[in-house]
Amino acid sequence: MTVAVYPGSFDPITNGHIDIINRASALFDKLIIGVYENPDKRLLFSLEQRVKLVEEAITDLPDVCVESYAELTVEFVRKVGGKVMIRGLRASSDFEREFEMALMNRKLAPDIELVCFMASSEYQFLSASLLKEVAALGGCLEGMVPDHVAAALKEKLSIEPHGVSVREN
Ligand code: ADP
Repeated sequence: MTVAVYPGSFDPITNGHIDIINRASALFDKLIIGVYENPDKRLLFSLEQRVKLVEEAITDLPDVCVESYAELTVEFVRKVGGKVMIRGLRASSDFEREFEMALMNRKLAPDIELVCFMASSEYQFLSASLLKEVAALGGCLEGMVPDHVAAALKEKLSIEPHGVSVREN
């Protein structure tokens, strides 16, 4: 049985992430989504909220589950019995950083294989950070996030209208 792990900040989960989850879950026996507790990013949602938003997005996928983690990603992958790490690549922004991380992870854990999925064309320009900016300015989020995430963004931003990260992610 091959267990794959899809790690990330998921602040919040978007349709771009969900597309990768659907495609990866069709290839592996089990997919664990790892929500990283404390990325080097300004976060809008708490760890518990990010996990809950992922949970609600995967209710139809029986072989997919979500866990949070705070340790090195490769250590988390090993701890849960993962052999493969999943990442998504958007043409515009991700390659250099992902390549750098992949080489570091390979050095730390040569036993874990990296599988990258090219983002689907409709999600190439969808990032959680841009999404939060659009949401903060009241823009339409249709097609970018599931309804429960749109509702959570609306609620969060009505409480914290300036709590939005403008950094790339
Ligand atoms: P991280 O902080 O680890 O980059 P993210 O939640 O931003 O966490 O992203 C997790 C993974 O999903 C990364 O591999 C990222 O490149 C990928 N990803 C983000 N947005 C999209 C998208 N729109 N389409 C495909 N992959 C994406």
